[in-house]
Amino acid sequence: MKYRLSCLAAVAAMLAGVLFLQNYESKPNRYHQHLENKPYTPCTDHGDDVFCTHLPLFNIVTDAPIPDPFLYDDTGKRIRDEAGSPVSNNEMVAASVEFFTNSGGNNHLTDEPDFFERGLIRIRGNWSRSFDKKGYLIKFTEQDMVTGKKVSIDGMTADSEWVLHGPFLDKTLIRNYLCYNLSGEIMDYAPNVRFCELILNNEYMGVYLLVEKIKQNDNGRIFITETDPKLETTSYIVRVDRGASDELHSLSTFASYMYINPGPTDVRGQLEIEYPGKSLTQEQHDYIANDISKFEKALFSFDYTDRSKGYRQYVDVDSFVDFFLINEFTLNYDAPFYSTYLYKDIREKLQLCVWDFNSAFDYYELSSISPETFLMQSSMWYQYLFKDKSFVDDVIDRYYELRETFFNEAYLFQYIDETVAYLGPAVERNFEKWGYSFGAEYDYLTPAERNVRSYDEAIAQVKDCISNRIDHMDSNLDRLYYLCHGSTNKVYNYDSNSKGALQ
Ligand SMILES: [Zn+2]
Repeated sequence: MKYRLSCLAAVAAMLAGVLFLQNYESKPNRYHQHLENKPYTPCTDHGDDVFCTHLPLFNIVTDAPIPDPFLYDDTGKRIRDEAGSPVSNNEMVAASVEFFTNSGGNNHLTDEPDFFERGLIRIRGNWSRSFDKKGYLIKFTEQDMVTGKKVSIDGMTADSEWVLHGPFLDKTLIRNYLCYNLSGEIMDYAPNVRFCELILNNEYMGVYLLVEKIKQNDNGRIFITETDPKLETTSYIVRVDRGASDELHSLSTFASYMYINPGPTDVRGQLEIEYPGKSLTQEQHDYIANDISKFEKALFSFDYTDRSKGYRQYVDVDSFVDFFLINEFTLNYDAPFYSTYLYKDIREKLQLCVWDFNSAFDYYELSSISPETFLMQSSMWYQYLFKDKSFVDDVIDRYYELRETFFNEAYLFQYIDETVAYLGPAVERNFEKWGYSFGAEYDYLTPAERNVRSYDEAIAQVKDCISNRIDHMDSNLDRLYYLCHGSTNKVYNYDSNSKGALQ
């Protein structure tokens, strides 16, 4: 009987997926490049000797060599921090940036560029900055090479700062593209992305993903009221990661003082004020610390579920629910201790924003993450949110809603296949350059059998992971209710009508 029921459920989910695909309408403003752009059609007016791509193309020439990603001492040894990690070198170098996009046809270095700008560039990332294929941060500037200049790229909101993510470990090349677009359909905001190819100092560097850096922006990105340094109160963006290097932007809140996960000595889960940036004042720093602490105090308090006094008055619950589900669904276990953004408009409630899916779909380097587990429910704010039955209700209701749309296997597999088809010959070009990383000496993932040996194997690995994940979540998500079981103690104390009687 149970078998028949699960068969029926599987058939129902498949039908829902087919219906969803037929009626699929993307969120306004969410641009899925592979759906909008044409696949590669070879040019007829030139031979193979001309570099030709249907993807947008960056041609970057730096004024001087790009500085090494790490800092070295006088003896040539890498400088290390207290935890033993090499210290990043974030020195920027001046560069000229040409961008070509002819979405109706192909791009060549001899074409008229969409724009030619000056700016600064540096290597970015933490562990990934040690890979052969680097990620870069670009900051467009005015001619003074200091003042930021907002530039729109391929229809995305104009801004001065952009990230060029260079998938190296991720052999599918599509993890971040897929996950950012999925998140962008589900949440209020997730960074917009475009595949492109990069030529840096006359050297072909492969397929990259251009990503909007998470920033306040009145026309897109994180749309929160602009700060005014004359005022004590402010809208803000806080990054949850390894913390800030300067005291003013480092943030300690109630959870940290109380040594609640994470405590002040933890490396991960530290808060850093991203916005306001340079203009941040001490008064605003204190305001932000107090504002987040108010939410935490309400969350850790006895009457946390109270609709008027509890945590719900401070947080956008939908945002916290979706953030949990996206990261659990994609097995992205950097979140919420790393690569997580918390933001708040001065007139609104706290929201979360995703960042970095390098480890998604069981791609954490040091060990395999079983698709048959849940991890985030015991971390940071979530360990308390899940004590509230209505939060668990919200998570489960939302999951089943998403299962009929963006968490549908048929939808996701089609999305992956169409993205790979769109990339077309760019995948081959990328691996002509970086294909040696399929070799055993580049087995970064442990245990070693998790490392793939071909592009097809990499895509199959992600699809397998999605299938297994869906099976597990469908069968086990209800177990989250164990986290909010009432206790006699709580009912006795909390129910004001009980008049001392145990319920
Ligand atoms: Zn061509």
